[in-house]
Amino acid sequence: MTKNILVLAGDGIGPEVTNEAVRVLKWFNENKNTDFRFSEANLGGIAYDLEGDPFPQTTIDAARKADAILLGAVGGPKWESLDISVRPEKGLLGIRKELGLFANLRPAMVFEELAEASSLKKEIVSGLDIMIVRELTGGIYFGEPKGVDTLPDGSRKGYNTLVYHDWEVQRIARVAFDLASKRGKKLCSVDKANVLVSTEMWREEVAKIQAAEYPDIELSNMYVDNASMQLVRDPKQFDVIVTTNMFGDILSDCAAMLTGSLGMLPSASLGDANSDVCSALYEPVHGSAPDIAGQNKANPIATILSASMMLRYSFDLGKEADILEKAIANVLASGVRTGDIMQEGATLVGTKEMGDAIIAQLDKLVGGKSQAA
Ligand code: NAD
Repeated sequence: MTKNILVLAGDGIGPEVTNEAVRVLKWFNENKNTDFRFSEANLGGIAYDLEGDPFPQTTIDAARKADAILLGAVGGPKWESLDISVRPEKGLLGIRKELGLFANLRPAMVFEELAEASSLKKEIVSGLDIMIVRELTGGIYFGEPKGVDTLPDGSRKGYNTLVYHDWEVQRIARVAFDLASKRGKKLCSVDKANVLVSTEMWREEVAKIQAAEYPDIELSNMYVDNASMQLVRDPKQFDVIVTTNMFGDILSDCAAMLTGSLGMLPSASLGDANSDVCSALYEPVHGSAPDIAGQNKANPIATILSASMMLRYSFDLGKEADILEKAIANVLASGVRTGDIMQEGATLVGTKEMGDAIIAQLDKLVGGKSQAA
């Protein structure tokens, strides 16, 4: 079946890393009978430069009708002095909002060969494979009222509101339970129900969904302070974690560091699968890395793993995703490294050469014929 993939390369290293991910996806067209069609649009600083808007109407139109979106990264020093209304980040928040992408999936997976790169002991992280599901469009980041008031006595009061509707909790819970059912069948819901009543409701709603729809999934609850401790004490106790916008923001960065490098971390942002607009965006966790942009130094693996998530979650091509992840593991096992994951005795390569190595491994694994050049 034809699938239309919109590529939003963005700024900095975005074009370099998305280019390698597209080459890998094209390998599946050549060797695995997929029919991915690619189109491009502007987002972020490049969109501001070329179209006067970080999230122009042309991109909105293209995004709405795509089957899935692959995003590089946005931002950089060039645009930092612009008014906040036209800064590149506006494009990022704009597209999440436009497409209703309420579920952010952040896997933290440690490739055996990189276990040494973690700041934790090898035996704590070796074989780690957890998934953090963060609610992305609600909670304290968006709740009203919010603001800073000056009181009659001249003092100032700043406030935000942690608000969740039951349906917001139910829909993110379903995403997390569905993921758990395809993985280790364990879900841990993280809240602060001992102090925050809105997260007490969160806990109750997650439990209701489990009882009614997912009785075979083991559900546990954990307070966020304990969860942060457990993530660095014994991260392998978790399979899938589901949590609020702010707690997920913090815990997913913490889990990310268990794996060693930003250049290895993919993500997916998903919306309502039955929506009539595109509801899936895949992007690396890292930013536009202006310090190494245009130098063929960026690690493309985070973006290629994001493409692997696209195969798995948007196109139901789990076997193909497995092959791709195996090819990446084999490349790492062969000692090929970009600068960010370089180890003594390994072979240092650039962005494009890492793409070549992964494609060559794919060829080896399935006896394919690549046009890697
Ligand atoms: P960053 O992630 O761009 O870079 C942090 C450090 O990690 C840098 O030293 C960089 O060279 C390195 N790095 C990042 N990705 C790498 C990769 N694939 N391979 C090798 N090294 C890599 O974060 P930053 O420096 O804080 O931000 C730079 C710009 O990116 C800012 O404008 C920021 O707003 C933007 N940003 C965008 C996103 C996004 O588009 N989703 C996310 C974070 C930051």
